[in-house]
Amino acid sequence: MSEIISIKDIDLAKKKVFIRCDFNVPQDDFLNITDDRRIRSAIPTIRYCLDNGCSVILSSHLGRPDAISSKFSLEPIAKRLSRLMSKEILMAKDVVGEDAKKKAQNLQAGEILMLENLRFERGEIKNDEALAREFAALAEIYINDAFGVCHRAHASVEAITRFFEIKAAGFLLLKEIKFANNLLKHPARPFVAVVGGSKVSGKLQALINLLPKVDKLIIGGGMAFTFLKAQGFDIGDSLLEENLIDEAQAILSRAKELGVKIYLPVDVAVARTCTSEALMSYVPTQEIPNGFMGLDIGPASGKLFREVLADAQTIWWNGPMGVFEIEKFAKGSLKMAHFIGDSNATTIIGGGDTADVVARSGEADEMTFISTGGGASLELIEGKELPGVKPLRGDGERL
Ligand code: AMP
Repeated sequence: MSEIISIKDIDLAKKKVFIRCDFNVPQDDFLNITDDRRIRSAIPTIRYCLDNGCSVILSSHLGRPDAISSKFSLEPIAKRLSRLMSKEILMAKDVVGEDAKKKAQNLQAGEILMLENLRFERGEIKNDEALAREFAALAEIYINDAFGVCHRAHASVEAITRFFEIKAAGFLLLKEIKFANNLLKHPARPFVAVVGGSKVSGKLQALINLLPKVDKLIIGGGMAFTFLKAQGFDIGDSLLEENLIDEAQAILSRAKELGVKIYLPVDVAVARTCTSEALMSYVPTQEIPNGFMGLDIGPASGKLFREVLADAQTIWWNGPMGVFEIEKFAKGSLKMAHFIGDSNATTIIGGGDTADVVARSGEADEMTFISTGGGASLELIEGKELPGVKPLRGDGERL
């Protein structure tokens, strides 16, 4: 497979550059941005283009709008980016309409234009070629730095690459792929993977791909219960994927053959309902009462997992240990974030919920790398080629 063309491989000098970013950030009811990590992560590529005398057109989606609405406007993003970069950013009133076209045409070297939410155009999620052609008419060079959407074939990610002769990956995208590649190809050992979250089905392929590569595997969260069931435990009303019990059993057997050690929770926080009012108690995994469900790992599991992580040189974590959205079931996930943050290992955190837990724990700065894309990072770990990355391969810089 040829290497991904890096932004550093192409001649950018004084060109008009279209950058696909991932500015899909969380906002509160008043549209205040509650976590601007994705905006900050985009800055190195933008600055590099400006330093090369380019003018820059930024594009992103935000949320899932069904129609054009101020609630989904990228204006707050442009304001935040402008503050972070101490630089004026022009805002287009549309995506490829009159206003965007005019502003893009008049854009001068050193200036930045932000297009409106890409999903205001229906063709975006349909990977529409006509829309992609309109994007391409705005600029001379295409840079993809939107790792979080590279697993989706959307017009600004995939179809667009057919209409730009010069295209490359931005610094964030390259960094994301480099970390995933190094993790899979040359991890420092012992390599421990920590997986959690709701379902085995969502992470099955990643587990299968990781199993021959890791030394130890910690399984927590809702998905642990299908494994516990496969081992013959009574799991009460805990989350279960009945159709995957055999698959879970096969993973446990395969791990044994490979000499990979698997660790499951030895105690759990149980409650009758998954609500903040529910009465919660800790029980050994063997003693989950009927009518109760396991919603977090317990304190003994926390201690066990800390021991397991103690000698790790590489840790990959994807998926919370419990229902961390509810405070009383967040302890296991927060503890895990502290253990990983305190470790001397290279620590790589999957995006999405896991990144949220790490941010809440205050450990974000302690991690080696936090991915900006939940789904995309999981697909890389599954060993898949992302549709947004494939067209960027050429004879460029080796990753
Ligand atoms: P995923 O998207 O598969 O990584 O799952 C993340 C979700 O898993 C979060 O919303 C958690 O609330 C949920 N989760 C974690 N542990 C449990 C559990 N024991 N029971 C039910 N849901 C859980």
